Amino acid sequence: MIEPAPRTAATATATATAAGRSRRGGRVRFRPAMLLAPCLGAGSLLCVAAAGWFAAEEARLDLLERARSGLTLSSAALSGQIEKQRLLPLALSRDAELAGLLRTPDRGLAARLDARLEALAAEAQASVLYVVGADGITVASSNAGTPQSFVGASYRFRRYFAEAMAKGRALQYALGTVSRRPGLYLSQRVDAPAGPLGTVVVKVEFDDLEARWREAGFLAFVSDASGTVLATSVPAWRFGVLSPVDAEQAADIRDDLQNPDAPLRPLPLAAEPGGLWRVGAGKAVPAGLYVEAAGAIPGAPGDWRLHVFLPAGPALARAAANARLIAGLVLVAAGLLAALVVRRRRALRQRQETLSAMNAELETRVAERTRALRHANEALTGEIAGRRGAEARVQNLRDELAQANRLSLLGQIAAGVAHEINQPLAAIRTYAENAGRFLGLGRAEPAAENLASIVALTGRVAAITDTLKSFSRRATGPVEPVRLGEALDGALSLLAGRIDGSGIAIERADPGDLRVSASRIRLEQILVNLLQNALDALAGRPDPRIVVTVEARAETVVVTVADNGPGLSPEIERTLFMPFVTTKEKGLGLGLVICGEIAREFGGSLALAPGRGPGAAFALTLRRAP
Ligand code: ADP
Repeated sequence: MIEPAPRTAATATATATAAGRSRRGGRVRFRPAMLLAPCLGAGSLLCVAAAGWFAAEEARLDLLERARSGLTLSSAALSGQIEKQRLLPLALSRDAELAGLLRTPDRGLAARLDARLEALAAEAQASVLYVVGADGITVASSNAGTPQSFVGASYRFRRYFAEAMAKGRALQYALGTVSRRPGLYLSQRVDAPAGPLGTVVVKVEFDDLEARWREAGFLAFVSDASGTVLATSVPAWRFGVLSPVDAEQAADIRDDLQNPDAPLRPLPLAAEPGGLWRVGAGKAVPAGLYVEAAGAIPGAPGDWRLHVFLPAGPALARAAANARLIAGLVLVAAGLLAALVVRRRRALRQRQETLSAMNAELETRVAERTRALRHANEALTGEIAGRRGAEARVQNLRDELAQANRLSLLGQIAAGVAHEINQPLAAIRTYAENAGRFLGLGRAEPAAENLASIVALTGRVAAITDTLKSFSRRATGPVEPVRLGEALDGALSLLAGRIDGSGIAIERADPGDLRVSASRIRLEQILVNLLQNALDALAGRPDPRIVVTVEARAETVVVTVADNGPGLSPEIERTLFMPFVTTKEKGLGLGLVICGEIAREFGGSLALAPGRGPGAAFALTLRRAP
């Protein structure tokens, strides 16, 4: 016995995998549909076999019908011949000449009768016609004068003679004692008032009839009560028996037939199922299956039967084969049709499955997308909140930066102021000292002049401090949407006094409803400053002109104030927007610095617009407000 190998972890896994595979694929799960194919196969075979059987049965019945009609015809022919021949001895038994010969033998009469019998036999197609005396000796015969002549022969031992003498008539199928040819002997007693005179016998041979049976393709024979074959289309079967007989029966039959040589061999016939007979192999007839029709023969002894056999094997086989072929073809066609239907249904089911799978996938994808969108939306909302927070922080930072910027600018300005104020302060000091000195000298007038100069100088210092005061104040008024047109109108109306009568042409754009992010007052302040600078630059210039244009962009609005004045020297251009840079006698050089700062607070900018010669042009960029 082989010991099983110890199970390691690896083998255990392999076994488990194999088991899983066998569960899923290796061992096929039983399904009722699996029985369908063998059932259909068996059913088809059954159908084909049944078709063959029915067709064979139909063919057998046809053949049987033909055999029966053959039987009827053959039986009629046989009985017709017997009836016809029977009349001969009957008629002759009443013949006076014949009776006379039997009563008194006479050579001449015998010769005449022989001739008559010969003529009659020929006419009636009888084999032999003869007259036997009461002692069994033939007295006249149709074959008298021939080597086979019956005349003088004794037939006392013949049954047809003895029986006819006893009963009046007799009938016997036997072999001719002389000719050894089989035939039916019909005998009729010749009666006279004194008693029976003898018998008239006619022998009928059935050669022609047997030949006709053979020609018709029949296998026919006549059997008697003992089952012995008499007349037959198969000479080899003559004196055969339908079923085996023992020796005693055989002796009886041979005795009855008066034929000691009768073979009495059983015919090679065996009953087959379905009313068929099988003829065994032999030289006499073709072996195979036969149908049989059998019946009594009218006019023949009651226990005689005529059997007609028709070959059935090939016809039955052909009919069965044809039927099987047709059934097979029909089944194949039906099978193909069924396969087609099944295939179409399967394809339909697969398409439906695919569609539902696609549908399910689509739904899954839609759900996934929806989920992703929701997440994205949430993320976006979060981001927007973050941005808002960041913007707020940026705005705060920007405010703080602007303030820091302003303070740092203030630092610069403070330094400038210190420098600017130093001069007037030094002058004031000088003027004050001079005034003191003049007052000491009692010269009031020059002292007053010096004091007046001091007052003038303090005015200048006051102007500087005023501007700075206004600038250092934290921006007032919220930044909000402001109509640009209104601010422009305001600035121009503030300057109307200067413009009117100055001869300076003002071209201004109409911004319509355009709005910008600004504070109205401070925006006007910027515009006034720019327009004032332009007006200053145009003083004494020929054909003076100021052009104010407005360019609205997607996010911004650019207001340009241009003039055709002398423009800016490169030096001024470099230092522009720096505090206290001025070319004007009474200028402070703070306007542009402050305006630039205000523009930045609005989220915009102020810059020199490039390439706008011959004069100067300043571009104020503002954020566009909704
Ligand atoms: P202020 O007007 O007090 O001088 P600003 O800052 O407004 O101070 O101007 C600074 C200088 O810029 C001016 O002195 C002038 O030289 C120059 N400037 C400004 N605008 C113009 C202009 N439109 N044309 C020529 N020069 C100009």
